[in-house]
Amino acid sequence: MAEIYDLIVIGTGSVGSSTGYYAAKRGLSILEIDSATPPHTNGSHHGETRMIRHAYGEGSSYVPLVLRAQELWNELKRDTQVDIFHQTGVLNIAPKQSSFLNNIITSAEKYELPIEVYDVSEARKKWPQFTMPDQFRAVLEKNSGYLKSELAIDTYVKEAKRLGAHEQFNTQVISVDNDDNGFVHVTTNADTFIGKSAVITVGTWVKDLIPNLPIQPVRKVVSWFEAPKQLAEEIGFPANKGLIKIGRHQGGQYITKREERLDFDALNEDRTEIEPLLNSVLKTVSNLDHGVACSYDLSPDEHFIVDNLPGKKNIQFVSGLSGHGFKFASVLGETLVAKALNETLDFDLSPFLLSRFNS
Ligand SMILES: Cc1cc2nc3c(=O)[nH]c(=O)nc-3n(C[C@H](O)[C@H](O)[C@H](O)COP(=O)(O)OP(=O)(O)OC[C@H]3O[C@@H](n4cnc5c(N)ncnc54)[C@H](O)[C@@H]3O)c2cc1C
Repeated sequence: MAEIYDLIVIGTGSVGSSTGYYAAKRGLSILEIDSATPPHTNGSHHGETRMIRHAYGEGSSYVPLVLRAQELWNELKRDTQVDIFHQTGVLNIAPKQSSFLNNIITSAEKYELPIEVYDVSEARKKWPQFTMPDQFRAVLEKNSGYLKSELAIDTYVKEAKRLGAHEQFNTQVISVDNDDNGFVHVTTNADTFIGKSAVITVGTWVKDLIPNLPIQPVRKVVSWFEAPKQLAEEIGFPANKGLIKIGRHQGGQYITKREERLDFDALNEDRTEIEPLLNSVLKTVSNLDHGVACSYDLSPDEHFIVDNLPGKKNIQFVSGLSGHGFKFASVLGETLVAKALNETLDFDLSPFLLSRFNS
């Protein structure tokens, strides 16, 4: 008879690999499925690094989650000796009236997080590498930094395996449903697997499995530029091999099929979309070295969706990470496992329910 897993992870990328790790740590029998071998470049987690910010510009409801996420990233680094988190600090520069900047300040006040706020003249003196228009100000968050995203996934996958997780990689999940006894049947192009519970963490192409979700896949590019020595060394801008990574959160191309996520340089704007930023704020940077294409799973309000499939208590999903989800992968994994075990949660996940889009 086929093994019945305690938990099946469908999509072992950022959130899925963390879920697999925390489930294995809790002694659950688990199966991790992925259409490729994670980490890889088909999903949303490649390109070496992801920022982690605590005083959250997207809204203070994320702060308790991101603080727990940071604790878990630190714990992972301590337990595995793998350098995943790098505390470089994060500098936010924006017009004074920017709601993002104001949300950072509100989040910091509400949760007593240390930030430093500079008016434009102080900021220009402190960071002469940046050109700042008069109406700008700067907020520095020293405790934040960046995470090595592919290294983190590699670490989660290896550790989960060491703790007994089963892997079914290079396998495409086609459908997920409950049988009459409440077991989850996960049908793939290889076999059908059975679990007491499952999490769907497939990122951009979630609508293949949950067609009615209000998710828009977006093609995004990110580029690496030759870093002037002064920029790379003086402010600890995370330059790697003399290159700094620059991306633009807004914009990108709405897509409907995997094939439409064309490689970097397929579109003229891949090279030019960042130019206005370079010309206005980062005049010391010019030479493009290379770029990659990646993708977002954009929700209508750009906030996460963390929920159960309607009417199915044992099938959870995470979606709509909308280009800012990597930093939360650790805490989302821990939380999905706690939910699968019917434990009381430490966080209020009600802002992230799918039902907010019903009205
Ligand atoms: C350019 C760029 C920059 C970003 N910068 C930041 C940042 O600075 N900070 C931050 O916090 N976030 C950032 N993000 C967002 C963050 O990377 C994503 O929100 C996060 O990686 C998404 O995680 P995920 O687990 O949902 O998806 P993924 O990591 O893509 O994992 C999904 C997995 O599911 C698998 N899969 C898909 N379909 C199937 C199927 N049918 N069957 C089996 N397996 C399947 C895929 O192969 C993949 O491994 C950025 C994203 C991009 C693209």
